[in-house]
Amino acid sequence: MGEEVKYKMEQTLTIKLKLYKPTLAKQKMYQEMADRCTAFANRYLQLDPKNRPKTSKQAQQYSDKLPSAVLNQAIKDIKANKNAKRFKRLWPNFNNQNFRVEKEASQNGGAVWKVSFPTLEKRVGVPIEVSAYQEKYLEMLLSGQAKQGAARLVRRGRNWFIHLSLTVPAAEEKSRTGKIMGIDLGQIDLLVATVAGQTLFFSGAPLAYIRRRFAKLRHSLQKAGAHRALKRLGDREHHWATDVNHKISRAVVEFARSQGVSLIRMEDLTGVRWATRQRKVQKRDHGRNLDYWPYYQLQQFIKYKAALARIQVEPVNRNNTSLTCSRCGEIVKSRPRGRWFKCPRCKRTMHVDANAASNIAQAISGLAA
Ligand SMILES: [Zn+2]
Repeated sequence: MGEEVKYKMEQTLTIKLKLYKPTLAKQKMYQEMADRCTAFANRYLQLDPKNRPKTSKQAQQYSDKLPSAVLNQAIKDIKANKNAKRFKRLWPNFNNQNFRVEKEASQNGGAVWKVSFPTLEKRVGVPIEVSAYQEKYLEMLLSGQAKQGAARLVRRGRNWFIHLSLTVPAAEEKSRTGKIMGIDLGQIDLLVATVAGQTLFFSGAPLAYIRRRFAKLRHSLQKAGAHRALKRLGDREHHWATDVNHKISRAVVEFARSQGVSLIRMEDLTGVRWATRQRKVQKRDHGRNLDYWPYYQLQQFIKYKAALARIQVEPVNRNNTSLTCSRCGEIVKSRPRGRWFKCPRCKRTMHVDANAASNIAQAISGLAA
């Protein structure tokens, strides 16, 4: 029996909440507040360090009637940027006492999310656009599981956002006796398994090769109307793929055992439509053709062999696993090109499949029901 390890991990992430259709008047007012905030920061920097205001009350004389909550945070922001000589832009920032997230019932039975914060006129409560992924974190915030950090009012192009920083428990791991391994059926490689920083790559060549080769043969047989030959071909393809899958699944489970893994997490492929024949089914998932039945078979083999090795297997939702930075939780908008995931926030560069596998190990999109 391994020693029971209990640990609690937290991670801080920023979710970007888009304000829902602010009126022109509100947009102008937000811009005015941001301009005054920036002007204050630059006035502050020009002051002799001895004379710089320490409280919002002292700071008022250098600002054009900014709310004291905003001034207080601005002073903190300026001090945090020790080497700043001039601010091109300092967006208004609200601490957790001055910024609130609220959830209201809507007429259609759903929920409307709102945020409220102080402005130049009065405190406003405005609706925001919330994705399912963000909603999960906002629910954690309301239930007290997540801690609220700073909230910054930011304009990007014509849209206004709140960049809300949250501290959340990292993928609530119960106490376990072993490690968790994440398996990604990759975009670049066929299969990538990661556990505690160790990564195992399986090249995509064998299955892709089988697929191409058989698709070509099938095509010519279909043209010739050779039905019996087609059937035989199908059997051979099945045999080949099954053989490859046995080899890969065996190696994966061996690797898991050698690493002391007690739990394997994989994407849930049960919702994918299976194409046993090469019809025009080209439904691509993140650049991968997961509708090719051998992928599903590979998962089944891993499950089966893991069970024999007394390793538990959990299916994980596929959403965002390749769009999220496995280190800081930042979500990128577009799929990374090529083989590297470069995080715009924490600047880490990782192999795209290893990053996805690591997210799967952490179950960032939750477990598949
Ligand atoms: Zn990152």
